[in-house]
Amino acid sequence: MSDYQLTAVGHIHSPYKQKFAIPRQPRLVPQAKAKLVFCADFNREEFVRGLDEFSHIWLLFRFHETADKGYSAMVRPPRLGGNDRKGVFATRATFRPNAIGMSAVKLEGIEYHNGQLSLLLSGIDLLDGTPILDIKPYLPYSDAMTDATAGFADVRPKTQMSVEFSESATAFIALQKQYPELKEFIINVLKQDPRPAYKKQKQGEQSYGMTLYEFNIRWQVNGEHNYVSHIEKV
Ligand code: SAM
Repeated sequence: MSDYQLTAVGHIHSPYKQKFAIPRQPRLVPQAKAKLVFCADFNREEFVRGLDEFSHIWLLFRFHETADKGYSAMVRPPRLGGNDRKGVFATRATFRPNAIGMSAVKLEGIEYHNGQLSLLLSGIDLLDGTPILDIKPYLPYSDAMTDATAGFADVRPKTQMSVEFSESATAFIALQKQYPELKEFIINVLKQDPRPAYKKQKQGEQSYGMTLYEFNIRWQVNGEHNYVSHIEKV
């Protein structure tokens, strides 16, 4: 066995404040905007010189929230309804040896503000505070494989669910001028149907909550229908 020590090059400032409701892959919710803030040792423009020529980047990161929970050889991928098991290396599960994740995300810009270097990103699937271990440019000529097949995960998950808002939730959103995409953001997060597989099989109305930015959002699900009943500041 070889052991290695890794150092975070930066951390993610994300609107996703808890694991629940984060999309299962990047770019499914384009309104998910985040900042990658570099750590002191990497807080120099030289580290990213030339990166602005790329529209997308790979992030390698640590599943820091669950890293101490270990892993098993087999997992139950949510898209198989939680009923079928696959080897952890045949999945993108968070509970895995070394707890390393990878996401290709859109690079919206590079900011150097008050002596702090940051990358502006969108379409992320990362929890607030996620440590970034490495950053690499996305290379379409090599990374995009048009003849690739993907077995049980061959197609993008269905997003047929409808999303409606109560009058009070609509009025609350209208007041949040600093988040002009808040409504679209909530709609696209709920359309991914973040419920665990066993809940999807249950009949009748279920109630859920999540925190996006500084907002607590409550909604009810009945069949294919989401109803956002209440939003308030944390
Ligand atoms: N795109 C990455 C990959 O393939 O390695 C992540 C895929 S993983 C299935 C996505 C899930 O990871 C999200 O739905 C969220 O629940 C979880 N997640 C995101 N950031 C995390 C973190 N820092 N620690 C633990 N879990 C995290």
